[in-house]
Amino acid sequence: MFTFTLTKSCTNGDLQAKKIKTQAERSGASNKIDVEFDPFAEFDLCAASYTPIYGGSPSVSCPYDGAKYHSQYKGQLCRICEVCEIGAAASGLRLWVQGL
Ligand SMILES: [Zn+2]
Repeated sequence: MFTFTLTKSCTNGDLQAKKIKTQAERSGASNKIDVEFDPFAEFDLCAASYTPIYGGSPSVSCPYDGAKYHSQYKGQLCRICEVCEIGAAASGLRLWVQGL
């Protein structure tokens, strides 16, 4: 049981997603809103649709805050920082940690 909220903040966006992910893994499949996910699979949370992006699925991310999105959201405005274009090229800056 957890409340599904994504903080609209550049610094907290990805962290919040990780928190949700951790809580989701701890509490099993009991969510307030229906998020279909496999608790044993590695995944990121799409910040636009709030659905999991499993490892190996095509995904794009915000170059600024690292929020992940399904590839269909490429070119749209980032939902977290509302500044960046999702999937825009950015090299070097990688603040998130893969595979936690
Ligand atoms: Zn962003």
